[in-house]
Amino acid sequence: MNSGPKLIDRFQRSLNYLRISITDHCNLRCLYCAPDNLIPKLRHDEILTYEEILRIVKVGADLGISKVRVTGGEPLTRKGVDQFLKQLCAMDGIEECSLTTNGVLLKSHLPAIQDAGIKRLNISLDTLSAKRYKSITGRDQFEKTWDAIMAAHAMGFDPIKINVVMLKGHNDEEWVDLAKLTYQYPFRVRFIEYMPIGRAAKKRESVQQIETIKAQLAQTEELIPLTHNPNDGPAERWRFKSAIGEIGFIGALSNHFCGTCNRLRLTASGQLRACLLTDKELDIKTPLRSGATDADLAQLFLASARIKPERHHLSDDPDHPTSSEMSSIGG
Ligand code: SAM
Repeated sequence: MNSGPKLIDRFQRSLNYLRISITDHCNLRCLYCAPDNLIPKLRHDEILTYEEILRIVKVGADLGISKVRVTGGEPLTRKGVDQFLKQLCAMDGIEECSLTTNGVLLKSHLPAIQDAGIKRLNISLDTLSAKRYKSITGRDQFEKTWDAIMAAHAMGFDPIKINVVMLKGHNDEEWVDLAKLTYQYPFRVRFIEYMPIGRAAKKRESVQQIETIKAQLAQTEELIPLTHNPNDGPAERWRFKSAIGEIGFIGALSNHFCGTCNRLRLTASGQLRACLLTDKELDIKTPLRSGATDADLAQLFLASARIKPERHHLSDDPDHPTSSEMSSIGG
């Protein structure tokens, strides 16, 4: 391992995790993220090339980045993604490589994703009803997504995390059914508090607090708390007493987990972003395209760590969302 400087921020958090958005394009139009026509798309030349992303990750890996997660937009809509994943996951210093996807295009990519060495998949699924899926995502793709989840399970991907964004008035009737998937499958079904961010931001009323759903689920069966490992990220982990899978709660607003945040983000447009919910970003693309050396790029990583805020402030005032788009940052 490289013995040079490491990414430690002003609050002594060690940053070893880079979340990489490889595109802002998405094949769904989720009403909480990228509803139709609301969010302008980046031009092709505004998006980092795979070669540029790999070079940036290499610089990050030399500074101690050992975990990467590829996201988007929808990462599987980008041409050449299989080959990119292979190169990314094979990079020296990268110990854990994972992917977040909406699952629509996943099935045919699964062999290549497995071949790249990815075991961990996060798949977004806010409902088990094809009709509601269409009303939330704007597209009729439930069957394809569910089929891909089953195929990933059959191929041994583990953990498979099912990300459910809780949106009051849209999928609240189904939270219990989604949680009950854990009786049948070893999935981690994670309930994510809706974050009012970007142009799709709704008002305070849409935010459903974790405690409400936890209380609701506990009426099905006793919820057992599980030990929190450093690798678990922000999710509180629980399990129905007799289930084989787990339930996670991610309460970015009601229960912010900034104290243990170990992440930096690389956006599709080539910005290093130190906090999902704080707009300050550092442009790494322009220097990269103007001949910056690896040492120059390393300085940008170190600067990004320096500006990482102690915590986000969205919970103080959810009516004033950040202006960046989730579809570009990557969640
Ligand atoms: N297209 C991929 C997917 O659907 O998983 C990856 C990108 S998506 C932006 C990453 C995650 O962010 C998804 O789990 C999505 O549900 C979540 N997300 C998007 N907008 C959100 C919001 N406003 N609040 C909470 N989570 C959100």
